[in-house]
Amino acid sequence: MKYDIIIVGCGFAGSTLARKFANANKKVLIYEKRNHIGGNMYEEILENGVRVHKYGPHIFHTNNKIVFDFLKKYSDWYFYEHKVLGKINDNLVPIPFNFKSIELLYNQEKAEKIKKKLQEKYPNVKKVSILDLINDSDPTIKKLGEFVYKNVFENYTAKQWNIPISEIDKSVINRVPVILGYDDRYFQDKYQYMPKDGYTKVFENLLNHKNITLELEHNALEDIKIKDNKIYLDNKEYKGIVIYTGEIDELFEYKYGALPYRSLNLVFENYDMNYYQSRAVINYPNEELFTRITEFKYLTNQIIDKKTTILKEYPKTYDYKDKNNLPYYAIINEENLKKYNQYKDLVSKIPNLYLCGRLAEYKYYNMDAVIERALNLYLEIMK
Ligand SMILES: Cc1cc2nc3c(=O)[nH]c(=O)nc-3n(C[C@H](O)[C@H](O)[C@H](O)COP(=O)(O)OP(=O)(O)OC[C@H]3O[C@@H](n4cnc5c(N)ncnc54)[C@H](O)[C@@H]3O)c2cc1C
Repeated sequence: MKYDIIIVGCGFAGSTLARKFANANKKVLIYEKRNHIGGNMYEEILENGVRVHKYGPHIFHTNNKIVFDFLKKYSDWYFYEHKVLGKINDNLVPIPFNFKSIELLYNQEKAEKIKKKLQEKYPNVKKVSILDLINDSDPTIKKLGEFVYKNVFENYTAKQWNIPISEIDKSVINRVPVILGYDDRYFQDKYQYMPKDGYTKVFENLLNHKNITLELEHNALEDIKIKDNKIYLDNKEYKGIVIYTGEIDELFEYKYGALPYRSLNLVFENYDMNYYQSRAVINYPNEELFTRITEFKYLTNQIIDKKTTILKEYPKTYDYKDKNNLPYYAIINEENLKKYNQYKDLVSKIPNLYLCGRLAEYKYYNMDAVIERALNLYLEIMK
């Protein structure tokens, strides 16, 4: 057998696993159907010199030291704390909602009253969920909760997921916070960094190993077939290990139907100016059809005179038959998880097939979580 491990997909799941096995002296083959490495973290440099995240903005943040230590071997990183504004009633206010947002949206007397009530009700608390605010017995606090729900959460969620707000699980609403103070960071994680030379470079370094062979523009499912709980490669049974990071329903030819996703229409715009907006990301929860605008120079730390590029994200339905339409966010609900578990049962009957990553596991993984999962899967397989 020429390769000990075949990996399908070259995002963080596939590339992390490839490097770990290569370091352990295993021969690894990666199939990637796109014409580039890096999965959805891929960055490219446009004609105007701006480095853009081709599949939407990716900000690295984690509390997991093991994951960050692993990544530090493959790039230098610079400290970057992400800050977001949201357009509410024609004002740009910090998101998550904080004391500054209250000051910008209410007159001074009202703002002081709301802040005082919050401080009295939640002394020494850093953030509180809008669900708690909505259920509060104090009418001022309750009204604030309802205001944030309506102006920050409701329309944004409806746009993003295209489902009535009544169908959104309470646990999702419960995760929307109001910050009790002036902390305007979008994430509170311990490690918040961006790769000095971009994500694509991280992937180049990860994959730069003599034991790794990479085949780009190669859909693995043209060669790999599953029959009678066995894996066939070019019509011959393959007894090595296959790690699959692509869409699980596609692997089984949609036997139980397609798993639903939300997709995005990503519209890049170039401008001859230094900066288009005042932050890396501005959210548009209400009137506009797009959900947010990202300006990449803030993320990449590039200094380019009078040139900038922004990205508008328009949510849309995913259709697996349309090859230009990509699966971005798994729509996780009871019905879809039931379907996913049917596919997973098929995988459990094939001892040399493993699933890893957001598409194979039909899950929302942040980058740190998918790397953690890949590092754990490596240990599991090596055992
Ligand atoms: C819009 C958006 C913004 C995000 N922003 C952040 C963020 O700010 N911070 C954060 O931590 N996370 C963010 N994420 C999550 C992040 O994108 C995921 O954690 C990451 O993509 C997971 O990596 P992966 O390897 O599982 O999947 P992917 O990156 O999707 O890689 C899978 C790869 O498999 C390939 N493939 C699939 N099928 C086949 C096949 N049959 N043959 C060959 N190749 C195949 C695909 O082409 C793809 O390259 C964001 C996600 C989205 C959608």
